[in-house]
Amino acid sequence: MKTLSSIFICCFLLVATVVSAQQFEKDSFVTKRGQLDITFVGHSSLLLTYNGSYVYIDPVSTYADYSTLPKADVILITHEHADHFDPKAIADLKKESTILVLNLATQHKLGEGIAMKNGDAQQLTPYLYIEAVPAYNHGAESAVKEPREERIEVSLIDETNLIFLEDEKSEKKKGKRKPNDDKREMHTKPPVNRHGAALYGEQSPPHREEEPIPIPIKYAAPKKEIYHPRYRDNGYVLAIDDKRIYIAGDTEDILEMMELDEIDIAFLPVNQPYTMTPKQAANAARMFNPTILYPYHYGATRIEELQNLLQYDKHIEVRIKQLQ
Ligand code: ZN
Ligand code: ZN
Repeated sequence: MKTLSSIFICCFLLVATVVSAQQFEKDSFVTKRGQLDITFVGHSSLLLTYNGSYVYIDPVSTYADYSTLPKADVILITHEHADHFDPKAIADLKKESTILVLNLATQHKLGEGIAMKNGDAQQLTPYLYIEAVPAYNHGAESAVKEPREERIEVSLIDETNLIFLEDEKSEKKKGKRKPNDDKREMHTKPPVNRHGAALYGEQSPPHREEEPIPIPIKYAAPKKEIYHPRYRDNGYVLAIDDKRIYIAGDTEDILEMMELDEIDIAFLPVNQPYTMTPKQAANAARMFNPTILYPYHYGATRIEELQNLLQYDKHIEVRIKQLQ
């Protein structure tokens, strides 16, 4: 009997350990020289583990107790909003050798780390090459003509307090955009992605005759650019081993995404009014055709809609993870 009790206790402890270790979903990828794991911590907080090195993206204490997680080899911060930038989580994860990469504004706020601006690229570690790419809201295209490095502004918007006010309701309330509303005529000819499929409402492959690709839509309130002005914030493209991973940050379906090349794994933000609707995210995905697409940064959004919108884009696999 005593033996049976011991076995029961042991089994219970084993199950408890497994459960606690599996509190976050994880996907694994075999790479040319090892293995890459992606842990979906919550919202836009992610952990990439490559051959024993830990790369954290936008760690925020709301979504995990970082003091109990492995120390960081690399920490990447996209921008200053509280659902992305949390000095406590950074402090919990840091060790002496941690490499911290931020956008310019958060680097100034924190007073440490490497600042990267849109367009910067560098070999950060032997296994990680990183590029900082644009992330901004529509409306910001004409707000600032050129990057001004001295322009370190602190946003007054704390989006964490508003994040769950999204999304379909506000879309309905504000109404859908009419085709002539889009003033962003950056191309004289309709842009096409690298598979030759037209973007922005032009006719695309045959299956889309019934449902044209949506034109980028200004769903949110005017002045949406105040959330994420152009040139301030970063998305990142990481090259780890033979995988290219795009972490979009807080952005909409901006034309710069057409320059993204050979993306294996992409994270695109979906929520309103700060980032994209599912339709915008589908449009964004068609600009660069990632092999695997993870929507993230969603709250009450009906995220399954993105899978429906991309069901005929067989070359893009949409994976939905528990990130709320
Ligand atoms: Zn933000
Ligand atoms: Zn955000």
